[in-house]
Amino acid sequence: MEKSHVARQAASRRGGSPAMNVRVGGLELGGTKTVVAIGTADGAVMEEFRYATTNPEETLTIAADWWRQRGPLVKIGIAAFGPIRLQGHACDFGTLLRTPKTAWQGFSLANFFRERFPESLLCIDTDVNAALLGELQCGAARGMRNVIYVTVGTGIGAGIFCEGNLVYGTLHPEFGHLRVPRHRDDSFVGACPFHRDCLEGLASGPAMEQRWGLAGNLLPLHHAAWEMEAWYLAQGIYSACTLLTPEIILLGGGVSQQEGLHDRVAALLDELGNGYFETYASRIRRPALDQQAGIVGALLLS
Ligand code: ADP
Ligand code: ZN
Repeated sequence: MEKSHVARQAASRRGGSPAMNVRVGGLELGGTKTVVAIGTADGAVMEEFRYATTNPEETLTIAADWWRQRGPLVKIGIAAFGPIRLQGHACDFGTLLRTPKTAWQGFSLANFFRERFPESLLCIDTDVNAALLGELQCGAARGMRNVIYVTVGTGIGAGIFCEGNLVYGTLHPEFGHLRVPRHRDDSFVGACPFHRDCLEGLASGPAMEQRWGLAGNLLPLHHAAWEMEAWYLAQGIYSACTLLTPEIILLGGGVSQQEGLHDRVAALLDELGNGYFETYASRIRRPALDQQAGIVGALLLS
């Protein structure tokens, strides 16, 4: 298991070194929305700006210009969707890999920001690892050693904290591409361009929209979509729980804002466990930092 240099820094800060009050930049790059901020390395946001993610040049130039207008930055922390190379020694460190967002495939976030901010230390990790760090440092996971942070938005991903370490493997966890059983009422082919009906292909925001013809935030509370959505998320989270037996599972991201979704997933998780595991239902939690977890985490990365 290899840890990026960024994660080591952030992890050592969790270990108790004093918060640094230097001005740092944070960028949360999502498939639908981007958040750019300035703040401190202990995660305090001073100012932020949210806007739609478009193509790489346009999206990142907005962030770079926004930072430049606010003066020099000692460090920059970037929390990005994946897949992305994170191993610090790799020649393609900070490059987006085979993402379904084809315009971003092969794009180097590291090169883009190193060219424009040569004086700033650049730290990059996944959006989910950043959100997880935020929750560990100042949110719902304080003091815990085994936590899974699941995001359900444009994509599905998970950050995993296992025995006090972020898990990377040779890339980083790819929870969204887990295989899950089919819901008996579902004939949707699936939205993942690589696997069609992996978890992300069946339960991401775009998958819901393609299946039902309406974006998640427009689907009524009692629509059958929500029972199916909870069922798929429970299948994926159950598999992760069997492997990692976490203290808590934080369920965040745009789709998770749907009222009642956490409770439905929690109930289904215990149905799947069928009494074998200690209850997981009570361990499904909302991120305490809510939609701020990612950008707070980006600042912490720095
Ligand atoms: P990103 O993936 O850019 O980080 P989000 O986590 O907000 O952004 O995810 C965007 C996806 O979540 C979109 O597919 C959108 O339709 C869906 N979504 C956003 N808000 C809601 C909501 N309140 N309820 C259900 N789905 C939502
Ligand atoms: Zn997939």
